Amino acid sequence: KENGEQFTFQTEVNKLMNIIINSLYSKKEIFLRELISNASDALDKIRFLALTNSSLLGEGDLAQLDIRISIDKENRVLTIRDKGVGMTKEELIKNLGTIAQSGTKEFIQKLSDANDAKSSSNLIGQFGVGFYSLFLVADSVVVRSKSNDDDQYIWTSDSQSSFTITKDPNGNTIGRGTQIDLHIKEDSLEYLDQTKVRDLIKTYSQFINFPIYLLTSREIEVPKEVEETAETEKPTEEPTEKTTEDVDIKEEGEEEESTKPEEPTTEKKTVTEWEEINDSQPIWMKQPKDLEVQEYYEFFKTLTGATEEPLCYAHFAAQGDVEFKSLLYIPPEPPANMFDLDAMTSHLKLYVRRVFITDNLKDLVPNWLRFLQGIIDCEDLPLNVSREMLQKNKILELIKKKIIRKFISMVEDIATPKSNDEIADEQEEQEEEQEEKVPDHPTIEYMNFFKKFGTNLKIGLIEDSSSKKRLTKLVMFPSNKAEYTTFDQYIKRMKEGQDQIYFIAGKSKDSVETSPLIEQAIKRGYEVLYMVDPIDEYVVPQLTKYEKYPLTNLAREGVKFPDEKEEDVESTKQVTQEFKPLTDYLGKVLADKVEKVVISKVLADSPSVLVANSWGITANMERIMKAQSQ
Ligand code: ADP
Ligand code: MG
Repeated sequence: KENGEQFTFQTEVNKLMNIIINSLYSKKEIFLRELISNASDALDKIRFLALTNSSLLGEGDLAQLDIRISIDKENRVLTIRDKGVGMTKEELIKNLGTIAQSGTKEFIQKLSDANDAKSSSNLIGQFGVGFYSLFLVADSVVVRSKSNDDDQYIWTSDSQSSFTITKDPNGNTIGRGTQIDLHIKEDSLEYLDQTKVRDLIKTYSQFINFPIYLLTSREIEVPKEVEETAETEKPTEEPTEKTTEDVDIKEEGEEEESTKPEEPTTEKKTVTEWEEINDSQPIWMKQPKDLEVQEYYEFFKTLTGATEEPLCYAHFAAQGDVEFKSLLYIPPEPPANMFDLDAMTSHLKLYVRRVFITDNLKDLVPNWLRFLQGIIDCEDLPLNVSREMLQKNKILELIKKKIIRKFISMVEDIATPKSNDEIADEQEEQEEEQEEKVPDHPTIEYMNFFKKFGTNLKIGLIEDSSSKKRLTKLVMFPSNKAEYTTFDQYIKRMKEGQDQIYFIAGKSKDSVETSPLIEQAIKRGYEVLYMVDPIDEYVVPQLTKYEKYPLTNLAREGVKFPDEKEEDVESTKQVTQEFKPLTDYLGKVLADKVEKVVISKVLADSPSVLVANSWGITANMERIMKAQSQ
């Protein structure tokens, strides 16, 4: 150790550490979740590599991929050990000394800008703080890591802006993987309590797909006769692996013994054993009927680091041309960079027969569904498929189609909640056209959903012709009669004899609400949709009609209302004729300012109006649309 090389942390690392220490001191316990999640990632990686070369897994115990946590109260050390990929010397320096991802750098900047505890803890929830959170509870740390590609190295730090790297003088003692020894701070000794640690693992890491063992000790009564049995002695170095059952049998044996006529001479012994804490069967492999809503929520939190519950989820098995299981979530909030296509890829994790493959697949869902979170576990893909090959795999196309369909039916469920028996025989494939009851107004849940993800639905409507019909039913617009309305709700409120759907386009609800162009329509009692979302400019050309009703733009010339009488039309003609000299004159005077001057009957009370012939295209929307269709 004396001749270890000394390194300084990248400045961003120091910043991150400061932020963690300052904003998470009341949530110290998350360090364990972070370290376990790193261990699990490392195990995923070796399992993935071993798909093409099984010898990389090693032999015997080493091939049993798991996470082991042990406590040394006397020396105040908490140890987390995994048999994952491990890190080479170079990787130790890079991964534990610098921040590589630009996303994390950005996050640090945002965090330094966030001044209140709530917004920073939300941000932290979104990103996950990672390895350095261990300094919340430890004043120093020793990391031993052994990669298949290098010897075992020791990385140590006491967080004072530097760390050291030493080749382990004891050799490659851990075989493969990483062992992290935390020297627990005076004020965090509770994390040396096995009950506390067990509870933490249960709370935060119950869904980790590798077994997590905690080395626990407990006192049992044993008869003096078996005193010399090796198993009941305090373990010296490597504790013997025993299941709880072994111990139980011994206790039963003890009862038998105590029936002997001799004096029941028992004594207390400490048994140390590896106790499996989590249930490492993946949640998505279970039957939905065996799972509680709360478990789905907890899994979402473990998966994403979110602190809030998802808006909704769907757990389903697809069969037929492609077989996979999936657990999909709509997150509580859209990701901050939802339309920044460079920064954000899909949030879905792809597994092949329980083996994690990637969470960075561009084509698993269309761009407009990138906010979806969850997992897809496919039975049909070859395990040794490379990530590059995956990009253009036909099976992925099929998966994508099914995910889109499932997503839409999730949204339909929010819009019109089903009754229980409808849910029971949910058969996605048979999309029967049922006579649905149209509610007068959207549900609160749907409003909430739509405010967050409505733009995505509209992009889907534009982009995906096979989903257009279902998505058109789901999109909403504000109107003079409703905060938001679907087309069906609009039709339900239509006036007797109304044969068109009226709308007005503009930059904001405020700007169109007071527009003279809608005066006539509103005076006559018609409902007017406000197309004021920048994306609407692209939606409207897709929707010339809804059912049998054409969509009519009130800014257009020559709008005729069904309740207009013939003589009105005549009189308009007359007036137009009469005022032709005036309109011609104004047209000349204003030639470089307006396109044309016409007599209009859309106005009820205003004398004149300047009509813009379209939305103000925002540069931003233009960019989004361009990017979407790439
Ligand atoms: P993240 O997990 O988001 O990448 P962390 O700060 O948690 O960020 O970890 C930083 C990096 O250190 C990881 O990306 C990984 O490369 C490496 N690392 C951390 N813990 C382990 C481990 N137990 N085994 C192998 N590599 C690890
Ligand atoms: Mg991590």
